[in-house]
Amino acid sequence: MTEEKENILYGKYPKLFAQKDLDARYSAMCWGCQHGDGWFKILDEMCGKLQHLCNKFNHSIEFTTVKEKFGKLRIYYTNEPIERTIDDYSVIHDTVKDQISEDNKKRRLIEYDIFSDVVRCAEIESGCTCEECGNMGEARNDCGWAHQTLCDKCYEQKKDGGEKNG
Ligand SMILES: [Zn+2]
Repeated sequence: MTEEKENILYGKYPKLFAQKDLDARYSAMCWGCQHGDGWFKILDEMCGKLQHLCNKFNHSIEFTTVKEKFGKLRIYYTNEPIERTIDDYSVIHDTVKDQISEDNKKRRLIEYDIFSDVVRCAEIESGCTCEECGNMGEARNDCGWAHQTLCDKCYEQKKDGGEKNG
């Protein structure tokens, strides 16, 4: 996306984009959101839901990669590892470790599923949304990219001026 659009999301969701300044060895977020501006709205809405859930669950997730792949959004993120959560907890509550850990683990797994569903919905929506302008689009495979989701108008422009876009 353009820097202008990225900065809007960084400002609204600083926790989700906390890895944007990390070295490339640790996170792909140093390259920003690697897709067209047409998916800005999808991303913005998804981030809003994720941030709301993070607050509700007292949980944090951070994106490690946001990019286009096979004509759709592809998003990777980190959760708190389950094992670490249990270990940390067990230090304090060693005597009730097993029961608490199981409850904690179950709750975490449900939360992970919910995060995963929200991200998957955004990825699916991107598959029918023009990556350039955000209108309804469909998968194209003959305009320079292996796969790209575009509306009719952007598709015609890409086909006509494909060489210019490199
Ligand atoms: Zn378009």
